[in-house]
Amino acid sequence: MQLVSGKEVSNKVKDEIALEVQKLKNNGSKIPHLAAVIVGKDGASQTYVNAKVKACDRVGFNSTLVQLDEDITEELLLLEIEKLNSNIDIDGYIVQLPLPNHINEQKVTESVDPKKDVDGFHPVSLGKMLLHLPGFLPATPYGIIEMIKHYNIPTEGKHCVVLGRSHIVGSPMSVLMARKDYPGNCTVTLAHSRTQNLDQVAASADILIVAIGKPEFVTADMVKEGATVIDVGIHRIEDVSKKSGFRLVGDVKFDEVAPKCAFISPVPGGVGPMTIASLLKNTLLAVKGK
Ligand code: NAP
Repeated sequence: MQLVSGKEVSNKVKDEIALEVQKLKNNGSKIPHLAAVIVGKDGASQTYVNAKVKACDRVGFNSTLVQLDEDITEELLLLEIEKLNSNIDIDGYIVQLPLPNHINEQKVTESVDPKKDVDGFHPVSLGKMLLHLPGFLPATPYGIIEMIKHYNIPTEGKHCVVLGRSHIVGSPMSVLMARKDYPGNCTVTLAHSRTQNLDQVAASADILIVAIGKPEFVTADMVKEGATVIDVGIHRIEDVSKKSGFRLVGDVKFDEVAPKCAFISPVPGGVGPMTIASLLKNTLLAVKGK
């Protein structure tokens, strides 16, 4: 079994980006600038956004954090987004999801300037992905593609099962794995909560990509011997043996699944760090696209 270490690959990607930033600095060119909008004080969202800001520091990007109150109106949030769209110093930005219930997430996503859409959630970015045109790929699927490439995991002609059909992970992942490219050229099954015989569907996968948001949902009996398993899920579960009182787990029961796998990504240290690295790559792309 080979561990697919997103931590290792993301460090390599960040080193490469840092070198490019150094070159830009040496040429007197503009330093890439990533902004993040966060609404409210949700603990997990704060952690993710802080990690993104830290990653900007690590590669030499400028970063701006726009912290807004939980009860901001949709109208005012859209005004903040308009400011980011027209700020020529900001190359790309993300709006951290989820947003409070009184705000229409789709409306917000669509108000981001597609040229600054480094999360890759705008319909223009998703359309370009579908047509295999250059553009921003959604950060998490993009990170998974880069991990598969780094470990030379064979994909052509394989049966890839994606568990979960969210707009930000599962659906784009299924499109990328079906592309006429490497990684890609898979026969793809996109499974979700209405899928029948999910256990058997999962067990038929050569490559199983799990993004359903249920802690340790995938067990050994759902995985084929020699499969590649990529675990997107991330959950804090109570663990009194830990000083913090919790530990992080994915959507896959790692200990029992790992021995059956050719390749498996762990949680933490798998997909998570790659999502951030992809965000940085997209920001560099936004700078070059100018
Ligand atoms: P989501 O929007 O909640 O979507 C979950 C998907 O799983 C839905 O398509 C749902 O089906 C399906 N599903 C739920 N329960 C199921 C079941 N029992 N059987 C079969 N399918 C089921 O989740 P998401 O945003 O894609 O995120 C998934 C996980 O990845 C979460 O743990 C999230 O925290 C994590 N995540 C991690 C990163 C990272 O960087 N590491 C990034 C994004 C997300 P329906 O469509 O039928 O409801």
